[in-house]
Amino acid sequence: MADARLTKEINRRRTFAIISHPDAGKTTLTEKLLLFGGAIQLAGTVKGRKAARHATSDWMAMEKERGISVTSSVMQFPYRDHIVNLLDTPGHEDFSEDTYRTLTAVDSALMVIDVAKGVEGRTEKLMDVCRLRTTPVMTFINKMDREGRDPIDLMDEVESMLKIRCAPITWPIGMGKRFKGVYHLHTGKVHFYSSTHGGKVQTGEVVEGLDNPKLDELLGDMARELREEVELVQGACNEFDLDAYRAGDLTPVYFGSAINNFGVAELLDDFVKYAPGPQERNTVTREVKPSEEKFTGFAFKIQANMDPQHRDRVAFVRICSGTFSKGMKVKHVRLGKEVRLNDALTFMAADRGHVEEAFSGDIIGLHNHGTIRIGDTFTEGEDLAFTGIPNFAPELFRRAVLKDPLKMKALQKGLSQLCEEGATQLFKPMVSNDLILGAVGVLQFEVVAQRLRDEYKVECQFETVGVQQARWIRCEDEKMLSDFTRKLDMNLSIDHSGELVYLAPTRVNLQMSQERWPNVEFLATREQV
Ligand code: GDP
Repeated sequence: MADARLTKEINRRRTFAIISHPDAGKTTLTEKLLLFGGAIQLAGTVKGRKAARHATSDWMAMEKERGISVTSSVMQFPYRDHIVNLLDTPGHEDFSEDTYRTLTAVDSALMVIDVAKGVEGRTEKLMDVCRLRTTPVMTFINKMDREGRDPIDLMDEVESMLKIRCAPITWPIGMGKRFKGVYHLHTGKVHFYSSTHGGKVQTGEVVEGLDNPKLDELLGDMARELREEVELVQGACNEFDLDAYRAGDLTPVYFGSAINNFGVAELLDDFVKYAPGPQERNTVTREVKPSEEKFTGFAFKIQANMDPQHRDRVAFVRICSGTFSKGMKVKHVRLGKEVRLNDALTFMAADRGHVEEAFSGDIIGLHNHGTIRIGDTFTEGEDLAFTGIPNFAPELFRRAVLKDPLKMKALQKGLSQLCEEGATQLFKPMVSNDLILGAVGVLQFEVVAQRLRDEYKVECQFETVGVQQARWIRCEDEKMLSDFTRKLDMNLSIDHSGELVYLAPTRVNLQMSQERWPNVEFLATREQV
């Protein structure tokens, strides 16, 4: 049983990520959450780093700015009695695999939608990933200070496209130039909007109760409209249901304008109240509860180039149970080795300090000199392996060609390392000596080329190759598997974890092979264990 202090620390933790389509306002909202959490004094701090997502060279340069990328990957801030861990996800969709893996390390998500644009492509994909683990999702409809879509239509769209029921918690009064504020359906308070650009926490006027004559004074005709609309909404929309939210079936919806700090406080107040604290996690052998006293955790992300001089990499580890304390010894389960964690990093926003203690739900950063892979488990001795960290079949393929053939060893070492960090995937065909790289986004290849050059002194080019799809192969029947392997060896390869992968030159080819071998599984995702 956990002691009282551990229980208290766990219960007050909230670990989440923001999901959105680019430009919906994730960066702005992140900044405002930090502002409300008192982690930054004035808005404008998080902004600077985002321009970088438009060009690879900028992205690389940014990653190299030691510290900045770390503090922006995980931000911890206190809010009321809670400790909030916000895990950032890369803005550029070419790095979406990183985002998917980060979502395995959170207990809930916050979805930001642009009121004018509604549900967009990235939002849909990210919701699919949330659904894999039934991650609870809260929704913030942003940019109410601009003209946008009708709120009821928007909620219909969320319900039909994202397959999740909506329960409005706040309701907007007008929008664009006529935006007056929001009515809180639970507290019965009307929060008035005033546009500010000072970057301070907004404390607009608050009026209690829909029947309050002050509303008529302040809103004129809009007061009547609001009363009618609220009646309609209360009759027609779902009511908030905590269990349904926690089960990922229903999303509470808030309206606001992140850039004007408006609607953010209501969101954050409910977030710490309703969002789940640290949840149980599955391992190959058993479920691990956050209240267990012994420390466990898994690496979900590896970030390189913190310090190019030292080839420094930081592995981000989500604590799943127990307490981490500085200097403790843990078992690196895959290697069967004991390691002492002397210099783990913590992520109190704006101040990347060294942790003394951290608890279930927190993220710590471990310096990684090439021994930590994505998915690695750390424990106080037990042989556990956390599951659920996915590898997605890449959609783009390139053949790596060395400029200097004598550098083959360095190339192989570099690629193997970059695969373990999840920067790319490597396939070695059974019938040739090619090295085929797979990625989800084209920028990944550029990053790999640059890192091979900087960190491994290998100059290498990437050529197009006749592969369109990859599928991991599984088959229970050993004889069938060996027939399959023999007959289709031209299309088979081994990935960096030693797994058999079918590389299809065309979609039609993949389909035909699947039809011919109905008892062989062709998997588009693979769990990293
Ligand atoms: P991200 O790509 O999701 O991180 O989006 P950003 O936070 O960078 O926002 C994209 C653009 O929308 C920026 O120009 C922001 O200034 C703007 N923006 C963000 N929130 C609001 C808002 O509430 N109202 C208006 N009018 N613009 C906003």
